[in-house]
Amino acid sequence: MINLSKIPCNKEELRPPSEGEFVKYENGKLLVPNNPIVAYLKGDGTGPEIVTNAIRVIDAAVEKAYGGKRKIVWWQVAAGDEANKECGTVLPEATLEAFKMARINLKGPLTTPVGSGYRSLNVAIRMALETYANIRPIKWYGQPTPHCHPEKIDWIVFRENTEDLYMGIEFPWNSKEAEKIRDLFKKEFNIELRPDAGIGIKPISRFGTQRVMRRALEWAMQNDIKRVTIQHKGNIMKYTEGAFREWAYEVAISEFRDYIVTEEELYSKYDGKMPEGKILVNDRIADNMMQQIITRPGEYNIIVAPNIDGDFISDEANALVGGIGMAAGLNLGDGVAVAEPVHGTAPKYAGKNVINPTAEILSAALLLGNYVGWKEVKVLIEDAIRKAIKNKQVTYDLAREMPGVSPISTSEYSDVLIGYIKES
Ligand code: NAP
Repeated sequence: MINLSKIPCNKEELRPPSEGEFVKYENGKLLVPNNPIVAYLKGDGTGPEIVTNAIRVIDAAVEKAYGGKRKIVWWQVAAGDEANKECGTVLPEATLEAFKMARINLKGPLTTPVGSGYRSLNVAIRMALETYANIRPIKWYGQPTPHCHPEKIDWIVFRENTEDLYMGIEFPWNSKEAEKIRDLFKKEFNIELRPDAGIGIKPISRFGTQRVMRRALEWAMQNDIKRVTIQHKGNIMKYTEGAFREWAYEVAISEFRDYIVTEEELYSKYDGKMPEGKILVNDRIADNMMQQIITRPGEYNIIVAPNIDGDFISDEANALVGGIGMAAGLNLGDGVAVAEPVHGTAPKYAGKNVINPTAEILSAALLLGNYVGWKEVKVLIEDAIRKAIKNKQVTYDLAREMPGVSPISTSEYSDVLIGYIKES
C-alpha cells in the first residue's frame, strides 16, 4: 500500500504509482493488466479502519490466488474531512480525476450533514462518474439472522443511481425558489400548494431507467440468474415510477426478446411453466416488494429499482441477513466502477477498532470478482468469511446476536480472514 505524504488536491498534483498500470476500456470491454492501479479513499468516521483492513485482506487473497503473478497497486486519494483539512474542499478535483483515470476504485463511507450543509459527496461522486447502476448483493454467509429461511436469500438489488429524489433538487419552504414554484403551480396548473411546503423534484427518465435495466439483464445472463423483478411505486407516482416500470419492460422486450419471458406471457403463452433457459421478468409495487422478500424470499433474484426504492429495499434486505456490516455495494458506469459498502460512517465507533469491515471487504471482492474478472479472489474471501462466522470469530455486531460469543476487533477479524485465506 502507498503511504500518502501529501493529498493531491489539483489535477496537476496527481502522481499515479509508477509500478502499476491503468486498466483500459475499449469497445465496451475492460482490459486488465496484472498490476492494475486501484484508486481508493478512506472516507470519514470508521472509513479509515475498514478500508485499511479491507486492503490487507484483498492483498492476501490476490497473493494466494495468483502467487505473485498479479498484484494490485493502490493509489490513495481523499475526500471528506481528510481532504477538507488538506485542500480546503471535501471533494478535490484530483480525487474525481484519479477515479476516472483508474476506472476501478474503492471508497470508504463519507459523511453527509443532515438538514443543512453540503449535499452528499457520495451522490456527487456517483454523478460525476456516471456510475448509474448501484449493485447491492444480499447473501447469507452463516451469520445470525432474524429470518427463519436465510438459505433462500440470494438477491441483488440494482438501484438506479443518478436520478430520482437523490438528485437533490429541492428548495426550503421559505426560499424564493419554493415561492416561485408554488406561484407557477397556482397560475399554470391551478394546483394550490401550502405556503409552508418545501419542494422536492423527482425526475426519472427513460434513458436513466433503461441503462440500469439493461445492466441488470446483462448481469442476469452472465451469471445465470433466472428472475429479474422491477420494483416501483407506479400506482401512485405514475409518470415517474410508473414510467420506470414501463421503460424497464420496454428494454427487456426490445433488446432481450430471445432471452426473457414476462410474467404476463408466462401465463398467457406458457401455462405458468417457465420455458427452459429463459429469464422471467416481472414487476412488483414497492410496498408489496418490501413484504414479499420477507414472506417469499426464494422467489426473487435481481430486483431493479429507482434510486429511492432501491435504497430502502437494500437496507431491509440486508437487515434480514444480519445487518449492514455485511452489506456490499458496487457503483457501475460504462468503463468505471466504484466499490463502496452500503453503510455509512458509523461515527460513534470511529477510531475504536470494533466495526465490521466485511461490507467494505465484500465490496472490493465484488469489484475484483465480478467487474475485473478475478473470480478466484472473491471465492477465497467469501470462503474465509464463512469460516470466520462458523467459528464464531466475529466483530461486535454479529457477536451480540450470538449468545456467549465475545467480539473480536476489526483488525483481529481481518487477521482471521487473512489466516483462512493463506491456509486454504
Ligand atoms: P451508518 O453509518 O450506516 O450507521 C448506522 C448504524 O448501522 C451503526 O450505528 C451501526 O449500528 C450499523 N453499522 C453501520 N456500519 C456498520 C459496520 N461496518 N459494522 C457494524 N455495524 C454497522 O448510518 P448513519 O448513522 O445514518 O450515517 C452516518 C453518516 O454516514 C451520515 O453522515 C450519513 O449521511 C453517512 N452515510 C454515508 C454513506 C456512504 O458513504 N455511502 C451511506 C450511508 C450513510 P449499531 O449502532 O446498532 O451497532
